[in-house]
Amino acid sequence: MAKKTSKKTMSSSSSPKSHKHVYFFGNGKADGNRHMKDLLGGKGSGLAEMTNAGLPVPPGLTITTEVCNIYYKEKAKIPAAIEREIVENLKKLEKAAGATLGSSENPLLVSVRSGAKFSMPGMMDTILNLGLNDDAVEGLKHRTKNGRFSFDSYRRFIQMFGNVVLEIPKDVFEHEFDAVKKQRNVKLDTELDENALREVVERYKGVVAKRTGRAFPQEPHTQLTMARDAVFRSWMNPRAQEYRRIYDIPDHIGTAVNVQMMVFGNTGERSATGVGFTRNPATGKKEFYGEFLINAQGEDVVAGIRTPQTIGELELVLPNAYKQLRQITTRLEKHYKDVQDFEFTIQDERLFMLQTRSGKRTGYAAVIIATDLVAEHLVTPKEAILLVDPEALNQLLAPGFDPAEWKKIPAVTKGLPASPGAASGQVVFTADDAVKWTREGKQVVLVRRETVPDDIHGMFVAQGILTATGGMTSHAAVVGRQMGKPSVVGAGELRIDEHGRTFKIGGHTVKEGDYISFDGLSGEVKLARVASKPSEILQVLDGSLAAKKSDIYLRFEKLLTWADKYRRLGIRANADLPDQAELAYAFGARGIGLCRTEHMFFGEGRIPIVQEMILADNEADRRKALDKLLPLQRDDFYGVFKAMHGSPVTIRTIDPPLHEFLPKREELMVEVAVMEATGKSGRALEEKKHLLARVEQLHEFNPMLGHRGVRLGITYPEITEMQTRAIMEAACRLNKEGLKIVPEIMIPLVGSVKELRDQKVIVDRVAAETMKAQGVKIKYLVGTMIEIPRGAVTADQIAQVAQFFSFGTNDLTQLTFGFSRDDAGKFLRIYQEKKILDKDPFASIDTEGVGALVRMGVERGRKTSPDLKLGICGEHGGDPSSIHFFEKVGLDYVSCSPYRVPVARLAAAQAALSVKVGD
Ligand code: ADP
Ligand code: MG
Ligand code: MG
Repeated sequence: MAKKTSKKTMSSSSSPKSHKHVYFFGNGKADGNRHMKDLLGGKGSGLAEMTNAGLPVPPGLTITTEVCNIYYKEKAKIPAAIEREIVENLKKLEKAAGATLGSSENPLLVSVRSGAKFSMPGMMDTILNLGLNDDAVEGLKHRTKNGRFSFDSYRRFIQMFGNVVLEIPKDVFEHEFDAVKKQRNVKLDTELDENALREVVERYKGVVAKRTGRAFPQEPHTQLTMARDAVFRSWMNPRAQEYRRIYDIPDHIGTAVNVQMMVFGNTGERSATGVGFTRNPATGKKEFYGEFLINAQGEDVVAGIRTPQTIGELELVLPNAYKQLRQITTRLEKHYKDVQDFEFTIQDERLFMLQTRSGKRTGYAAVIIATDLVAEHLVTPKEAILLVDPEALNQLLAPGFDPAEWKKIPAVTKGLPASPGAASGQVVFTADDAVKWTREGKQVVLVRRETVPDDIHGMFVAQGILTATGGMTSHAAVVGRQMGKPSVVGAGELRIDEHGRTFKIGGHTVKEGDYISFDGLSGEVKLARVASKPSEILQVLDGSLAAKKSDIYLRFEKLLTWADKYRRLGIRANADLPDQAELAYAFGARGIGLCRTEHMFFGEGRIPIVQEMILADNEADRRKALDKLLPLQRDDFYGVFKAMHGSPVTIRTIDPPLHEFLPKREELMVEVAVMEATGKSGRALEEKKHLLARVEQLHEFNPMLGHRGVRLGITYPEITEMQTRAIMEAACRLNKEGLKIVPEIMIPLVGSVKELRDQKVIVDRVAAETMKAQGVKIKYLVGTMIEIPRGAVTADQIAQVAQFFSFGTNDLTQLTFGFSRDDAGKFLRIYQEKKILDKDPFASIDTEGVGALVRMGVERGRKTSPDLKLGICGEHGGDPSSIHFFEKVGLDYVSCSPYRVPVARLAAAQAALSVKVGD
C-alpha cells in the first residue's frame, strides 16, 4: 500500500525533468516497448516493439499520454521542460532520418498521429506530410526529382492541417480542388500535373488566409506544436467522448502523440499503402486479409474515395514487398499471440510497417480464432480465454435468418460482407433518425453512402448498417464488427439520395421507412422483412440440432469448458420457471441464485386465486386461498429443482407489494362509475366496489418502500408458511425419487436480524412438520438477501441467523443512491453526460458506494460466520466489470439471467486470472 502511494506521487510530480515524457524509436532501438500502452498508447507501444524487433519502421518519437493530461491541467499549455525534451528528440529524429525540418534541399516530413491505450477508429485526428512549406516543397522536389508528388503532398498537408488544426470545413478545400480540375478539364485527382497542383496549393493558402486572417504557418516547429495540440484537443471532441462512453473507456487516460518520419506510398506506380489482418476479422478464417491502393497515402484506403484492391493482388504487382509483408505479419502474430491488424506503406518497392495492434473482430471470429490458436499451439487454453471479450459471446446467440424464408426472396444486390449477422428493419438515412425511430420502438437499418465517426450513435442503435462505398476496412466495416452489428459495405449499385431519403437499386426505389433485410455473412441485400431464426448454439441447446453438426457450438463449448477450469466463482442463474431453469442449466449454470416465487403467481388461472388471498380480510379466508395455491407452487418448485439436476436452488419468498396483483385503481373507478351510470346494480357491482375498496386500502404512496418483502411475511405469516411447505414438499418428493435437493429459502428485504429471526422460526417449524409428514429428513438452508443498506451494515448480526447471503444489488443500488430504478432513466443520461456518473450504476456496479456496502456485508458476515455462503443475484451478476469486482471481494458465486450465463462463465475466468481475492 505504502509502495503504491509513493509511486503515484512520483508520477504526478510537478518537476517534469525528473522523468521522461518523450520516447524515441529508430535505428533498431526504441525507448519503449509493448508493455507501455498506458504511457505510449497502443500505436506508440506497437511502433516501439516493432522497432526493437528489427522490423522496418520509420523512426519517430512518442509524446506520452501524461503530457495530454498536463495539457488539460495547465489549460492548454505545455511546460517549457517538456517542450525542450520534444526539441531534443526531434534533433535525434533528424539525425536518424538524415533530413532536416524545413530544409530546402532535403526536408524532413513527419506525420503527427494520435494514439490512446485503446484504439478508437477514426475518432481522433492524424496529420500527414507536416514540415512542408514553400521552401521545403522545393527541397522535396529536389530530393525526389518528382514535382508532381511534392506538390500533391503539400496540398494534402494544407488540406489536412487546415481541417484538423484550423478547423476549416473540408468542403471548402474540395471546392477549390474541383475548380482546378474543372478548369484543367480532368476527371481524376491523379491527372493533375505539377503546375495544376501548384495552383491548388496557392488557392488553399488563400483559403487559410481568408478563413483565419493569417498566412498558412510556414515554420515547421510551429506547425508541429499546433498539430500536437490539435491531437490533444481531439481527445475531448464530442464523437471521441461518445465513443468512450459506449465502450466504457475512461476520459482520464488521455492520448499520446506520435511524430514519425513520413514514408510515401504516393511516389508512383511502385509505391502503395494498405491495411490488413493476419486472419479474417469477420469470419475468423485463417487467411491473409486486407486491402491496398497503388500510388496513394494512408488515409485514402479508409476514406473510401477509391475502391482498394484486395491484398492478394499485391503479390502480383509488388511480389517482394508482399513476401516480406507476409513474413513480418506472421511473425507479429506469433510474437503478440493474437491476430494482428497492421498498416503498411511501400515506397518505391521498399516496405515500411506503420502500425500493428490486436485486430478487432466479431464475436463469432473471436471464438474461431481463440480455438484455432490453441489448436495451432500458438497459445495455451489459459491465454485463449483472455482473447475473447465476454460480451462478444452474445453475438453468437443472436438470431440469423431462417434459410427457407431467406431463399424465397431474390437478392437485389450484394455488397461486401463486413460483419456477420441478420439485419432486418426499416430504412433510415441518418444517424439521428436511427436514434429517433428506435426511441419510437421501431427497428431500423441505417443506410448511408459511407459512415463517418459522427454516425456512431446511430450505428449503435440500428439493427444493421448498409453502405454504398468503402471496403472491408472502411469505417462502417470496422465499427460494425466491433459492435457486433451486421454490416454490409460497398454495395456499389445503390444509388442513394440522402436528401430525398430514397435509394434506387435494380429498378426499385426504396423510401425511408420501407423494410429491407441483409445478411452480413454473405453480403446479400433483399427488399423485404425476413423472419429470423435462433442461433445455431440455441438450436443445439434446445435439441433441434446435433452438437456435432455445429462447428461453432463445439468451439463455444470448448472455450467455456476451458473457462470453467480457471474460474473460482460459481455461476448460477436467475430463473423462475422450469423451462428457464433448463435453458440456464444447458448454458452451464450450476444452480439457481434467485427464483422469484411471485412470478409463478402470474401463471395461467392463478391470478384469481392470488386475488382471493389478497382480498381476504381475515386469516381463515386467506388460508383457504393459500391452500389452493400450495399445490400449484409445489409443482413449480418440483420442476425447477428437477431442471437443476441437484444443483442448489435459492427460492425467495414473496417480495412485491400485493397491489401488483390487483387491477389498477383508476381502471376500477372508471368501471364502477360506468356500471352505476348504466343503471347496473346487484352482486357484480358490489364485488367491484369491494375490490376497489381493498385496492384503495392497499394503495401506497411509495410502494417500493412500502409493504413488501419480509414485511409481508411478518404481517401475513401464513404466506411464509404456505411457501415453505410447498418448497419442502417438492424437495422431499425429489429426495424420495433419488435426487438430493438442498433447498435454500431466502427472505427478502431484511434490514434487521430480528426480521429474519421472526421468519426463520416459521420456516423451521413448517419444515420440521413437513419432513415429519413426508417421512424424510433433508438438509435445507435459510438465508437472506442483503439489499437494504442497513442489512449490509449489520451483516455481523444477521449472519447469526442467516446461513447464506445473496446480495440483491438492484435494490441495494436503488436504496444506496436513493434513485428509483423506474424513474432514474429521466436523469441518468444527463448525469453521465455531465460526468457526475461514469456509468449506469444499475448496469455496472458502483464500486465506491454500493460496492463498499457489499464488501462490508462480506467482511462483517464472514466475521460472525466464516462459512457463510455468499452470492449476488442482481443484474450485475451478468456484467463482466461487476464480476471482476465480485471476484475481488471474494463472493462464492454470481447469478444472472440464463442468456448471460456464457458471458458470466468467461468473465469469471478472466477475473480469476487477473485478480487476487482481497485485492
Ligand atoms: P488512425 O489511427 O486513424 O489509423 P494513423 O495515425 O494510423 O491514424 O494514420 C492514418 C493513416 O496515415 C494510416 O493509414 C497510416 O498508415 C498513415 N500514416 C501515418 N503515419 C505515416 C507515416 N509516417 N508515413 C506514411 N504514412 C503514414
Ligand atoms: Mg492507424
Ligand atoms: Mg429486491
